[in-house]
Amino acid sequence: MKKNIDNKFYVYRFRLYPNAEQIAYLDEQMSYNRFVYNFFLERATSLYKNYGVKTNYHSNSAILPLLKKGFPFLLNANSQSLQASLKALDTAFQKFFAKQAGYPNFKKKGVYSSIVIPQKFKIQDNFISIPKLKSNIKVKFHRKVYEAIKSVSISKTTSGKYYVNMLVEKFAFTPYIPKKVIGKISGIDLGLKDFAIITTGTDFNNKESFKIPNPKYLLKSQKRLIKISRQLDRKVHRHSKQDKTTTSKNYIKFKNRLSLLHERITNQHKDFLHKLSLRTVSDSQVIVLEDLNIKGMVKNEHLSKSISDVSWSKFTDMLEYKADWFGRQILKVNRFYPSSKTCSTPDCGYVYKDLKLSERAWICPQCGALHDRDVNASINLFLEGLNLTVGQGLPELTPAEYAPAGCQNIGISRHTMRQEACAFRRR
Ligand SMILES: [Zn+2]
Repeated sequence: MKKNIDNKFYVYRFRLYPNAEQIAYLDEQMSYNRFVYNFFLERATSLYKNYGVKTNYHSNSAILPLLKKGFPFLLNANSQSLQASLKALDTAFQKFFAKQAGYPNFKKKGVYSSIVIPQKFKIQDNFISIPKLKSNIKVKFHRKVYEAIKSVSISKTTSGKYYVNMLVEKFAFTPYIPKKVIGKISGIDLGLKDFAIITTGTDFNNKESFKIPNPKYLLKSQKRLIKISRQLDRKVHRHSKQDKTTTSKNYIKFKNRLSLLHERITNQHKDFLHKLSLRTVSDSQVIVLEDLNIKGMVKNEHLSKSISDVSWSKFTDMLEYKADWFGRQILKVNRFYPSSKTCSTPDCGYVYKDLKLSERAWICPQCGALHDRDVNASINLFLEGLNLTVGQGLPELTPAEYAPAGCQNIGISRHTMRQEACAFRRR
């Protein structure tokens, strides 16, 4: 695939509704791909361990026809998908050798299965046709795809739902330069009790702070998640002590319930994060964040905490790529900068070193200001942004160019951006 540097690749994901015959076909294709992936992974491991020989995509690909002779059932597989599996294995090894990922794992049945279909797929109305399958599979399109589709892959979730992922290439946007000068800045403090505390405005005397609570439905789902995980845990203990292979009907029932709930939480999260990041980016020219060491924090054992960590890093990612589209600036403040402990009153800047995590509010001994801990942090981040941009003559956003509520009036190359904005809202 020839890659244009200025363009970006996106994946659109749509739900598939295959019938029983199509499910059988997809599952079979997934099992062939899993077989080939695992076969070559084992071969690579043994060759490397015993002889120090490294395999790669080309050497593996050359052996594939022989493998088909040894395992004739592979003749039923879409050979381009098998090639794609070899490429995926190659990528996994490259990441491992570059120390970006651990050693490639064997693909287990039922965990997460997928097949890549690089060519010969066809999308018409609400159906997709793929090689070697006579009937067309029903797709539920929740948005229109205007771009040319480079390749598709079909995946099956743990709970047994099927999705098609379409890879498209988009032309890069020319950054948007608004007309008026003097910009709006947002300082964002990410929290646990509230998802975020945002201070936004144009200068110290012209700003407002607001708290974005964690959505209630999310907390509810998290509670249910913890409950079901515990129930499942008990089932595992009861069965696995004597016989690890036993899977009772009850166990499967709880496991399915758990994966469904996981999916729902993921979708609810995405929706919330997309809306908030879009609103923030449409609303401000400069966005100041703390540079969180997210990798280190995900290891935290508390479930609800680790969910927050994951959504923080997702939120930061979304802010970054949307800021890119809208021509906004993201400023990351060193995570050792004491944003909660520093008094945000101009010309004070007292640092309250002994601030404990349990102290939600404090009074500055130097200037007497009462600070809500998190609001103070977001004001400090806001001020960092202000310092950075003083004298830069930042552009101001006119109200017509705000787009939090609707999808119109985004003011950027209209026909492309408008679709984007609408798509966020639905995802
Ligand atoms: Zn002070």
